[in-house]
Amino acid sequence: MPDTHKRAANILPQCALTVDVEDYFHVSAFSNRITPADWGTKYPLRVEQNTHRLLELFAEHNARATFFMLGWVAERCPQLAREIVGQGHELASHGYAHQVVTSQTPLVFKNDVFRGKSLLEDITGCAVRGYRAPSFSINPNTEWAFSALADLGFIYSSSTYPVKHDLYARRLGQKPLSAP
Ligand SMILES: [Zn+2]
Repeated sequence: MPDTHKRAANILPQCALTVDVEDYFHVSAFSNRITPADWGTKYPLRVEQNTHRLLELFAEHNARATFFMLGWVAERCPQLAREIVGQGHELASHGYAHQVVTSQTPLVFKNDVFRGKSLLEDITGCAVRGYRAPSFSINPNTEWAFSALADLGFIYSSSTYPVKHDLYARRLGQKPLSAP
Protein backbone atom coordinates (compact mmCIF):
# COMPACT_ATOMS: atom_id res chain seq x y z
CA MET A 1 0.00 0.00 0.00
CA PRO A 2 1.43 3.44 -0.89
CA ASP A 3 2.43 5.64 2.06
CA THR A 4 -0.26 8.20 1.28
CA HIS A 5 -2.93 5.50 1.48
CA LYS A 6 -1.48 4.17 4.75
CA ARG A 7 -1.60 7.64 6.25
CA ALA A 8 -5.19 8.09 5.08
CA ALA A 9 -6.17 4.76 6.62
CA ASN A 10 -4.52 5.72 9.90
CA ILE A 11 -6.51 8.92 10.24
CA LEU A 12 -9.90 7.46 9.36
CA PRO A 13 -12.23 7.81 12.33
CA GLN A 14 -13.25 4.63 14.10
CA CYS A 15 -17.03 4.55 14.02
CA ALA A 16 -19.61 2.40 15.74
CA LEU A 17 -22.72 1.91 13.66
CA THR A 18 -25.83 0.90 15.60
CA VAL A 19 -29.51 0.48 14.80
CA ASP A 20 -32.51 0.11 17.10
CA VAL A 21 -34.80 -2.49 15.53
CA GLU A 22 -38.15 -1.12 16.58
CA ASP A 23 -41.13 0.41 14.84
CA TYR A 24 -42.29 4.01 14.62
CA PHE A 25 -45.09 3.36 17.12
CA HIS A 26 -42.71 2.09 19.83
CA VAL A 27 -40.87 5.35 20.44
CA SER A 28 -41.22 7.12 23.78
CA ALA A 29 -42.26 10.35 22.04
CA PHE A 30 -45.57 8.64 21.12
CA SER A 31 -46.10 6.75 24.37
CA ASN A 32 -48.83 9.12 25.56
CA ARG A 33 -50.77 8.75 22.28
CA ILE A 34 -50.21 5.13 21.18
CA THR A 35 -50.76 2.24 23.58
CA PRO A 36 -49.15 -1.21 23.23
CA ALA A 37 -52.60 -2.58 22.27
CA ASP A 38 -52.36 -0.47 19.10
CA TRP A 39 -48.95 -1.83 18.10
CA GLY A 40 -49.28 -3.83 14.90
CA THR A 41 -53.09 -3.54 14.98
CA LYS A 42 -54.17 0.06 14.58
CA TYR A 43 -50.69 0.87 13.30
CA PRO A 44 -49.14 -1.56 10.78
CA LEU A 45 -45.57 -2.84 11.05
CA ARG A 46 -42.94 -1.15 8.90
CA VAL A 47 -39.87 -2.36 10.75
CA GLU A 48 -39.21 -5.37 8.56
CA GLN A 49 -39.13 -3.52 5.24
CA ASN A 50 -37.18 -0.61 6.76
CA THR A 51 -34.57 -2.91 8.28
CA HIS A 52 -34.22 -4.68 4.94
CA ARG A 53 -33.42 -1.33 3.35
CA LEU A 54 -30.68 -0.77 5.92
CA LEU A 55 -29.29 -4.27 5.45
CA GLU A 56 -29.08 -3.66 1.70
CA LEU A 57 -27.31 -0.34 2.23
CA PHE A 58 -24.84 -1.83 4.71
CA ALA A 59 -24.12 -4.72 2.34
CA GLU A 60 -23.55 -2.30 -0.52
CA HIS A 61 -20.99 -0.38 1.56
CA ASN A 62 -19.50 -3.41 3.29
CA ALA A 63 -20.46 -1.98 6.69
CA ARG A 64 -21.08 -3.99 9.83
CA ALA A 65 -23.38 -2.79 12.58
CA THR A 66 -24.90 -3.73 15.91
CA PHE A 67 -28.67 -4.15 15.77
CA PHE A 68 -30.44 -3.67 19.11
CA MET A 69 -33.64 -5.59 18.49
CA LEU A 70 -36.84 -5.49 20.49
CA GLY A 71 -38.12 -8.88 21.61
CA TRP A 72 -41.60 -7.73 20.54
CA VAL A 73 -40.29 -7.32 16.98
CA ALA A 74 -38.31 -10.58 17.03
CA GLU A 75 -41.46 -12.45 18.02
CA ARG A 76 -43.26 -11.16 14.92
CA CYS A 77 -40.31 -11.09 12.51
CA PRO A 78 -38.02 -13.98 13.53
CA GLN A 79 -36.57 -14.26 10.05
CA LEU A 80 -35.34 -10.69 10.33
CA ALA A 81 -33.25 -11.62 13.39
CA ARG A 82 -31.76 -14.52 11.45
CA GLU A 83 -30.97 -12.30 8.46
CA ILE A 84 -29.16 -9.77 10.66
CA VAL A 85 -26.94 -12.49 12.12
CA GLY A 86 -26.59 -14.24 8.77
CA GLN A 87 -25.23 -11.07 7.18
CA GLY A 88 -22.46 -10.78 9.75
CA HIS A 89 -23.91 -8.11 12.03
CA GLU A 90 -24.09 -8.23 15.81
CA LEU A 91 -27.57 -8.88 17.18
CA ALA A 92 -28.11 -7.26 20.57
CA SER A 93 -31.12 -6.64 22.78
CA HIS A 94 -33.37 -3.60 23.12
CA GLY A 95 -35.50 -5.36 25.76
CA TYR A 96 -38.91 -6.83 25.01
CA ALA A 97 -41.63 -4.19 25.27
CA HIS A 98 -39.83 -0.83 24.93
CA GLN A 99 -40.72 0.45 28.37
CA VAL A 100 -38.27 2.99 29.78
CA VAL A 101 -36.22 1.75 32.73
CA THR A 102 -37.32 4.71 34.83
CA SER A 103 -40.92 3.41 34.74
CA GLN A 104 -40.03 -0.12 35.87
CA THR A 105 -39.27 -1.89 39.13
CA PRO A 106 -36.05 -3.94 39.16
CA LEU A 107 -38.08 -7.16 38.90
CA VAL A 108 -40.23 -5.96 35.99
CA PHE A 109 -37.09 -4.70 34.23
CA LYS A 110 -35.26 -7.99 34.67
CA ASN A 111 -38.23 -10.01 33.40
CA ASP A 112 -38.59 -7.78 30.33
CA VAL A 113 -34.90 -7.98 29.46
CA PHE A 114 -34.75 -11.72 30.07
CA ARG A 115 -37.76 -12.25 27.78
CA GLY A 116 -36.22 -10.16 24.98
CA LYS A 117 -32.78 -11.78 25.24
CA SER A 118 -34.20 -15.31 25.38
CA LEU A 119 -36.28 -14.72 22.27
CA LEU A 120 -33.30 -13.50 20.25
CA GLU A 121 -31.13 -16.39 21.40
CA ASP A 122 -33.81 -19.01 20.76
CA ILE A 123 -34.47 -17.67 17.25
CA THR A 124 -30.84 -17.34 16.17
CA GLY A 125 -28.97 -19.82 18.35
CA CYS A 126 -26.43 -17.06 19.08
CA ALA A 127 -25.53 -15.57 22.46
CA VAL A 128 -26.72 -11.99 22.94
CA ARG A 129 -24.15 -9.94 24.84
CA GLY A 130 -25.18 -6.30 24.35
CA TYR A 131 -28.16 -4.32 25.62
CA ARG A 132 -29.57 -0.85 24.94
CA ALA A 133 -32.31 0.55 27.17
CA PRO A 134 -35.33 2.13 25.49
CA SER A 135 -34.67 5.87 25.14
CA PHE A 136 -31.25 5.41 26.81
CA SER A 137 -33.18 5.39 30.08
CA ILE A 138 -30.59 4.17 32.57
CA ASN A 139 -29.92 7.26 34.66
CA PRO A 140 -28.26 7.88 38.03
CA ASN A 141 -31.44 6.70 39.75
CA THR A 142 -31.72 3.43 37.86
CA GLU A 143 -28.13 2.24 37.93
CA TRP A 144 -29.40 -0.91 39.68
CA ALA A 145 -30.17 -1.98 36.11
CA PHE A 146 -26.48 -2.62 35.40
CA SER A 147 -26.24 -5.43 37.94
CA ALA A 148 -29.43 -6.97 36.53
CA LEU A 149 -27.86 -6.87 33.06
CA ALA A 150 -24.68 -8.53 34.35
CA ASP A 151 -26.79 -11.22 36.07
CA LEU A 152 -28.47 -11.93 32.72
CA GLY A 153 -25.13 -12.42 30.97
CA PHE A 154 -24.70 -9.11 29.18
CA ILE A 155 -21.14 -7.86 28.88
CA TYR A 156 -21.95 -4.29 27.82
CA SER A 157 -24.72 -1.73 27.87
CA SER A 158 -25.33 1.14 25.45
CA SER A 159 -28.00 2.70 27.63
CA THR A 160 -26.88 6.19 28.54
CA TYR A 161 -26.65 9.26 26.35
CA PRO A 162 -24.33 12.04 27.51
CA VAL A 163 -26.09 15.00 25.89
CA LYS A 164 -28.95 17.28 26.88
CA HIS A 165 -32.20 15.77 25.58
CA ASP A 166 -35.81 16.03 26.67
CA LEU A 167 -36.37 12.26 26.78
CA TYR A 168 -33.00 10.58 27.19
CA ALA A 169 -32.08 9.96 30.74
CA ARG A 170 -28.57 11.13 31.60
CA ARG A 171 -26.85 14.41 30.99
CA LEU A 172 -23.15 15.10 31.26
CA GLY A 173 -22.20 15.66 34.86
CA GLN A 174 -25.68 14.84 36.13
CA LYS A 175 -25.78 13.65 39.73
CA PRO A 176 -28.35 11.27 41.19
CA LEU A 177 -31.59 13.10 41.92
CA SER A 178 -32.02 11.40 45.28
CA ALA A 179 -28.44 11.12 46.47
CA PRO A 180 -28.23 10.47 50.22
ZN1 LIG B 1 -35.94 2.31 21.13
